[in-house]
Amino acid sequence: MAKVIAVNAGSSSLKFKLFDMPAEKVICSGLAEKIGHEDAIFSIKPAGKDKNETICAIKDHAVAVDMLLEALIEYDIVKSLDEIKGVGHRVVQGGEEFSHSEEITDKLERVIEELTPLAPLHNPANLVGYRAFKKALPKVKHVAVFDTAFHATMEPQDFMYPVPYEYYEKYKVRRYGFHGTSHLYLSQQGKVYLKDGQSRIITCHIGSGASLCAIKNGKCVATSMGLTPLPGVMMGTRTGDIDPSVITYMSKQTGKTCEDIYNELNKKSGVLGISGVSNDTRDVEKGALEGNERCKLAVQLFARRVADYIGQYYVRLGGCDLIVFSAGIGENSAYFRKEIIDQVSEALGVKLDTNSNNNTIRGKEGYISTFDSKIPVVVIPTDEEIVIARDTCSILKIK
Ligand code: ADP
Repeated sequence: MAKVIAVNAGSSSLKFKLFDMPAEKVICSGLAEKIGHEDAIFSIKPAGKDKNETICAIKDHAVAVDMLLEALIEYDIVKSLDEIKGVGHRVVQGGEEFSHSEEITDKLERVIEELTPLAPLHNPANLVGYRAFKKALPKVKHVAVFDTAFHATMEPQDFMYPVPYEYYEKYKVRRYGFHGTSHLYLSQQGKVYLKDGQSRIITCHIGSGASLCAIKNGKCVATSMGLTPLPGVMMGTRTGDIDPSVITYMSKQTGKTCEDIYNELNKKSGVLGISGVSNDTRDVEKGALEGNERCKLAVQLFARRVADYIGQYYVRLGGCDLIVFSAGIGENSAYFRKEIIDQVSEALGVKLDTNSNNNTIRGKEGYISTFDSKIPVVVIPTDEEIVIARDTCSILKIK
């Protein structure tokens, strides 16, 4: 058995999971948060045991990686670091170059760096994580797993924007889509709910970031995020689709720069912007149930946007054999799921089973629709890390 680490490095965080492969057994998971701060938090949880948490200064990602590797030895999770045979890294933007995961070479590292203008917050953070692991484990090979790769099968009419053509030719302005690793996982897990000959799935990855994907025969045909993760459905703090004129209009009205407004569309909008209460749907759900009008509107707006995409993808796929809910809201909020399905039930004949909807939360998988629902609806907890570990093994030929 070989041990493989799946890594998701953000600008100030580093999430990891250690797997025994090919058994796909999680050995431990953990997280370094607030990297760069004096009161950073490092936590590690060996499978089946309690979480160990330390609050201390973590100067940078390299320090976080050293802490992780030391903790693996300290908690007797591995006897020697030589047991680690591969590290898989989430890389958010793979541009048009990558339709699959790839081993990270010096050349690939440069390509990921060159793609930074398309993902200024994410790709540099992903690279920082990679470099820290490479330094700490110089003999181990690394794999990049791109968030965009699963969407590489979209046709031009699904990925092009109707802007001057040279925007695309010179600057690669187009829809890329994100959360691809999650949508891929959901479509693979979703197969068990399909009957013979069925292959059309709509996956709803709705957490603080949210995107939908239309999948036919295991391949993505359309997805709701775009050049960046800003468009598509409404999210915790992002607008989703809006008229881009809002940027120039608001800039003229307020004297703020376009960059300032753009930041507000990313960080102060969505559920937070409408409710004025929180970006966390738990708070907004509570507010709505207590009669707060803006919380109610945030829920309705959120549900309407997701329902609109379900309708659009139903048409795009020529029908639908399965609807999948996943991520923070999709896996946990019976309330949001009902609000969404209520909006498509008349047109699509989808019916929720109240009991299963209320009980399929906190990591449970299964049907939430009734037997006579025209399209079955299921909840599948997503697992991007397992896809990263699988790809790392297959590319590095780890057995
Ligand atoms: P990320 O995009 O950061 O990976 P997640 O998929 O973990 O996000 O989703 C986190 C979000 O899920 C929270 O901000 C919250 O809005 C929502 N969420 C989590 N649990 C619940 C719940 N029980 N009810 C409603 N919403 C929830």
